[in-house]
Amino acid sequence: EDQRLRLPPWLKTKIPTGKNFSKLKEQLRNLNLHTVCEEARCPNIGECWGGGEHGTATATIMVLGDTCTRGCRFCSVKTSRKPPPPDPNEPVNTAGAIASWGLDYVVLTSVDRDDLPDGGSNHFAETVREIKKRNKTILVECLVPDFRGDLDQVKTIVDCGLDVYAHNIETVEALTPFVRDRRAQYRQSLKTLKAAKEFSPDLITKSSIMLGLGETDEQVEQTLKDLREAGVDCVTLGQYMQPTKRHLKVVEYVTPEKYLEWEKVGNKMGFLYVASGPLVRSSYKAGEFFIASILK
Ligand code: SF4
Ligand code: SF4
Repeated sequence: EDQRLRLPPWLKTKIPTGKNFSKLKEQLRNLNLHTVCEEARCPNIGECWGGGEHGTATATIMVLGDTCTRGCRFCSVKTSRKPPPPDPNEPVNTAGAIASWGLDYVVLTSVDRDDLPDGGSNHFAETVREIKKRNKTILVECLVPDFRGDLDQVKTIVDCGLDVYAHNIETVEALTPFVRDRRAQYRQSLKTLKAAKEFSPDLITKSSIMLGLGETDEQVEQTLKDLREAGVDCVTLGQYMQPTKRHLKVVEYVTPEKYLEWEKVGNKMGFLYVASGPLVRSSYKAGEFFIASILK
């Protein structure tokens, strides 16, 4: 018997369209660049790659390989205690491909590399420096691990020339041990976000929460407060989707109206921007939101 909830209409996927989208897709063919957008078959690809009102095209690219040292119960990425070593040519190759691709805003993300002494922070930082060397106007967001709470690694990222420092808290404190890998801790995540802001107060920081895992409204509100207290500037809220039958079940499909309420709550708390909606992912239209928030 299948006890999974039925998919509500607001989660039925959209078909990507738009001129910029087709152009970027065409260019990507020859670049040997792996985007999370395509690999995760993200439903937002048309909007992100197309850019919105400000025409700011966003894409998410994964560095440091496809195998994670952790195993979160919501995530379908492969796990291994000892993934292959990072490709030393990746920073240069990735940067070259991004530069010729014509993006305005790039989100660099990675698996967690607890096997590496520096958690992969130098590899990340080098990739950003190589990107900025080739294109000074491109905006770069790094969506990074918690680096086991090692603030030296946080500092390496903060100092690399990025525009946005992102780390996802993923869920409320009470659910963290059931949702994230046991090495990930709610307070540790907050600590790294707070440190990033303290190292560089002008740097924009960002985090993300998945809803639908059984969290209460009070817990969500508390998480938003905790993020704000850690100096986090931007937050996104979106629906958790079960990637395979072996992963955590969806407890609730949160309604679009409820997401609007969270957006209002977040705005009242003083976040620079809140992106909140069933299909919102942490990188959803990140470039558009970034530009809109600095023009505010
Ligand atoms: Fe997935 Fe990130 Fe957890 Fe690794 S640390 S299992 S990539 S969510
Ligand atoms: Fe890509 Fe993220 Fe946008 Fe999805 S939400 S299309 S992964 S940038």
